[in-house]
Amino acid sequence: MAKKVVIIGAGLGGLFTGAILAKEGFEVTLLEKNSTIGGGLQTFSRFGEDFDTGMHIIGGMAEGGTVNRICKYLGILDQIKLQEVDDGCTARLYYLEDNASYEVAKGKEGFVVSLARYFPDEQEALQNYVEAIFNLAGQVDLFNLRPSDGRLTLYTHSEEFLMAADEFIAKYVGNAKLRSILAYMNPLYGGYAGRTPAYIHAIISALYINGTSRFVGGSSRFAEVLKDFIQSRGGRVLASERVEWVEVRERNVEYVQTSKGRCFQADYYISAIHPCALLGLTDEKAFPKIYRNRLNSIPNAYSAFSLFIKLKADTFPYMNYSEFYMTRYSDVWSFGDVGKPWPLGFLLMTPPVEGQGAFSSKVLVMAPMPFEFVRQWENTTVGKRGEGYLHWKEQQAAELLQHIEHIHPGFSACVERINTASPLTIRDFYAVKEGSISGFSKDCRNITLSQLPVATKARNLLLTGQNNQLHGFCGVPLTAITTCEAILGANYVINKINGCTDF
Ligand SMILES: Cc1cc2nc3c(=O)[nH]c(=O)nc-3n(C[C@H](O)[C@H](O)[C@H](O)COP(=O)(O)OP(=O)(O)OC[C@H]3O[C@@H](n4cnc5c(N)ncnc54)[C@H](O)[C@@H]3O)c2cc1C
Repeated sequence: MAKKVVIIGAGLGGLFTGAILAKEGFEVTLLEKNSTIGGGLQTFSRFGEDFDTGMHIIGGMAEGGTVNRICKYLGILDQIKLQEVDDGCTARLYYLEDNASYEVAKGKEGFVVSLARYFPDEQEALQNYVEAIFNLAGQVDLFNLRPSDGRLTLYTHSEEFLMAADEFIAKYVGNAKLRSILAYMNPLYGGYAGRTPAYIHAIISALYINGTSRFVGGSSRFAEVLKDFIQSRGGRVLASERVEWVEVRERNVEYVQTSKGRCFQADYYISAIHPCALLGLTDEKAFPKIYRNRLNSIPNAYSAFSLFIKLKADTFPYMNYSEFYMTRYSDVWSFGDVGKPWPLGFLLMTPPVEGQGAFSSKVLVMAPMPFEFVRQWENTTVGKRGEGYLHWKEQQAAELLQHIEHIHPGFSACVERINTASPLTIRDFYAVKEGSISGFSKDCRNITLSQLPVATKARNLLLTGQNNQLHGFCGVPLTAITTCEAILGANYVINKINGCTDF
């Protein structure tokens, strides 16, 4: 008889873990609190437009890329609709401080050549830097889908591996503006000066240099593809089924209970939610105090404030690249600082629709924001946060619009309607502590604290998702592999992926 697995949370992590285990013959049940599955893959509709919530730029889907290979192993690649961004300009960066803009091209050579146009004296430094980035990313076995001992940071790696990312960049590049430019993708990994390990920066940079893609017609379609795969293998993906209790006795999970009063039992339980949210579903004695304290003491990456903008028809062009805006070069590592003026910067993009034409119908803006900005409303719930909060949100939106005018003069006249989301929206939508954009923040000064193993203090309970090894579209499926291999055996899935031609 097939072994049963119950997974709490149907975000990217829960869905990938469920899909792999379903493929390997397990009877999988996913329980999702929201009425729509997907977590960060969710898409919502406003003003007749579909907006993605937490998956705008995706890496690892190019031929031979990490997630591409995992999807090939699952046999779902042909069902995923993507738009690759422009090779010659994957990102356009703008700095208010000196009104300068830079276009960054795809590929190792393209990346170096594109930036050396603006910094000719730094060409050699740029070349060495890019080699060093790929060298670091190459040291992470999991990222390269190589068999390993499964412990991400304990491999034989160079001394740069756990260097702080900002110091790593400074080691190669002297020019202060260029150093800031090389960290432009910080809003997608929640980086902090002196804290974020160089290998995290290297993985994200390598993904971006190799070229990124966008979902066409919404990221939720990808969640549906994974759901259909699980169901086609006899599994269940149940929405509106919030897990309210996890019964742990003598270091063993006995059952989980949902808001509908239903109990689910299995051989294995996998928590694909924030580990601190899991603690809130268990008795105090379920885990040793030292474990609870550890989870509660790991800092979370900063949050974000987003604008979802419906545009007036045929007023604003579709841009097949992302824009990164910064007020000052020196603030690229300060997004989590509460003492700084806001916004320090933001990401702006035009998500593609089916049959995308020359004009865009919508714009997404994501501006990093520390949770402290909304601390005064932390005890409120959706729709009941009060007039003060609504007014504050309007002010932040107006502030962002003023900044957008610097890169796109006349933009405000193109706007038809705006929907906003604050760090509280992210916190309550996904149940992520402090609305963090990528969960637990990795700290190179104490990597054993922030690098959480997938095994827990309960024998039949495992963790998965962005808080464990790596976050984001590429990182979470990799963590899913580690979680599955904790059940299936070391390197079981990796070996299958590597042997995979056509399943
Ligand atoms: C604004 C924003 C923009 C981002 N942009 C990008 C991007 O462009 N590219 C990129 O790669 N990454 C991006 N990320 C990060 C990415 O979204 C996450 O790393 C990824 O989605 C995390 O997946 P997960 O499965 O670990 O968690 P989640 O997606 O949060 O999934 C957890 C699921 O568990 C459910 N849940 C929680 N509690 C319970 C419960 N008690 N019972 C049942 N279900 C429960 C939640 O509702 C959720 O569906 C962004 C994140 C944010 C917030």
